[in-house]
Order: sequence, then structure tokens, then C-alpha cells
Amino acid sequence: MARLGEPRIVTRPRSHGRARYRVDGTGNRVLVLPMRCPSGRHVLPTTGYRTTSRDGVLHVECTACATASSPDHAWRLDLAGELPPTAEFDAEPYASPHP
Ligand SMILES: [Zn+2]
Repeated sequence: MARLGEPRIVTRPRSHGRARYRVDGTGNRVLVLPMRCPSGRHVLPTTGYRTTSRDGVLHVECTACATASSPDHAWRLDLAGELPPTAEFDAEPYASPHP
């Protein structure tokens, strides 16, 4: 029997859920981003944000919270397939990270 050794602890930040999409009038998928950062204190299009994607997860980082070293400064959203070429902000909040 093979020994598996010590279990490797993978610390991966918990996702906030699946990214939301909508289909525009021309049939293209549009990624829907939350208007406010996870803390709810900043409006991302106003205060600034940065998006990166890796391993099928989109990170939407609030510039203001990142500067203040706030622990939960970025949304982590699971992507379904390719990143659409366009995205838009929606005031309707994603599921709260702090229920
Ligand atoms: Zn913020």
C-alpha cells in the first residue's frame, strides 16, 4: 500500500460564489461585477478597482481597502468558462461575505 505522507494543507481563500453573467441585446455574454467592495464601504467604479483572473477565479480588488490593508479587500468569483470581453457593474449586491 502506498503511503500518502503528510496531508498538504492548501490555504485557498474562500470564494464568494459564482460570477454572474447576463446576455446583452446582441447575444454576447457580459460579466456582471458587484458595484461595491466586499466591505460595502466603497463604490468600485468610483474609488478604483483592479481585476485579475487565475485558475478560473476572478479577483476584483478594491483599491481603497487594499491600500488600508483590509483583510477582505477583494471579491473572489468563480468563472464559468472564458472571461467575456465586456463587464459591467450592478448595484444589486452579491451574496454577503459576512452573513
Ligand atoms: Zn473597499
